[in-house]
Amino acid sequence: MNARLQAIGDALLGSERRLRIRSARCLLACGLMAYSVASLGYFVAVGLAERGAVLALALLGVGGMLLFYAAIRSGASERLRDPSLTIAQMSFALLVGALAYTLAGRGRGAVFPIMMVVLMFGLYSLTPRQVRLMSALALALFGAAMALMAIVSPRIYRPEVEFAHFLVIAIILPAVSMLAGQLGQLRDALKRQKAELREALARNEALAQRDELTGLANRRHMAALIEAERVRSERSGARFCLAVLDIDRFKRINDSHGHPTGDHVLKVFAAEALAAIREADVLARWGGEEFMLMLPDAGLTAARLGLERLRTRVEGLRVVHEGRELAFTVSAGLVEVSPDETLVEAIARADRALYQAKQQGRNKVVAG
Ligand code: GH3
Ligand code: MG
Ligand code: MG
Repeated sequence: MNARLQAIGDALLGSERRLRIRSARCLLACGLMAYSVASLGYFVAVGLAERGAVLALALLGVGGMLLFYAAIRSGASERLRDPSLTIAQMSFALLVGALAYTLAGRGRGAVFPIMMVVLMFGLYSLTPRQVRLMSALALALFGAAMALMAIVSPRIYRPEVEFAHFLVIAIILPAVSMLAGQLGQLRDALKRQKAELREALARNEALAQRDELTGLANRRHMAALIEAERVRSERSGARFCLAVLDIDRFKRINDSHGHPTGDHVLKVFAAEALAAIREADVLARWGGEEFMLMLPDAGLTAARLGLERLRTRVEGLRVVHEGRELAFTVSAGLVEVSPDETLVEAIARADRALYQAKQQGRNKVVAG
């Protein structure tokens, strides 16, 4: 049953989201038009309107709206600036409304609410300028209908009553325009806020993944990246390595040069290390003066080569900060992650290798 409903929905509205919305709105408008002209049938039944004229109007109104539906549903309107044809649909409906006004005789008061419904259709999708245009068109069409009928049929459309009707719509329509303007501003503000929120969210997300000092990935983000690499390698069978890097005797740098210089060294290290590693490698600040390097698609030999390159690059650096020059070195513990160990185990292995590197005199890469 659901599948059948879905099939009918797809046939009537199409499957693309925007097309569905447009088609559904147009079908709703068709329904409203059919309902409105059908209610003119009541006027005929009670002798207020003439059968032939009402029938002609019904054909024109419903036929016209179905043409709009066909143009939208078939995708033919896609090529136009406004594929929903809102302005055209509204203009047409207003014209039919004005014609209905000329046919409804003493029942014509009932046509005004229909005019309002037509205008309401545009309130949410048109710009305030377009709503003003539609209000002006409504005023012109209905004004013309009133003037015409006051001349042609003054006994039923008494001129002084028509003038009063005109005054009423001349007050209502600008009010609708004003409301539309306010709605438009509200809509724009909402749109702007949504965009700002989305931007702020993206910024926050990026910030939450970064270490503030070095700009590298932080520990939490890195843990997720390693986990993802683990999943990827399990699927593809690719090997990957992890290395824990720790700056040697960093405490001494802090102690003899001050904390700000220590911070500067961390930044320089991050930049230099990034320059030394491959594009696919990921470096993160794991904590304090400790860093984690992930080397996807690399076995131990290739990874060791990369780390040696990094180590010698750091060894050769001369950092100048606040007028004083200093050099520093880095030690690393390297492991290739084995498929039958957990990441925690692999990282513990890398930590032990790092400890050995420190034991062996620092400024070394040790594979565990
Ligand atoms: P080792 O060669 O054994 O690694 O010696 P170390 O002095 O580097 O090791 P230790 O872990 O004892 O000292 C690390 C120091 O790093 C201690 C801490 O004050 C300092 N540190 C941690 N985070 C920061 C930071 O963000 N900025 C600065 N300037 N120092 C930091
Ligand atoms: Mg340390
Ligand atoms: Mg250290």
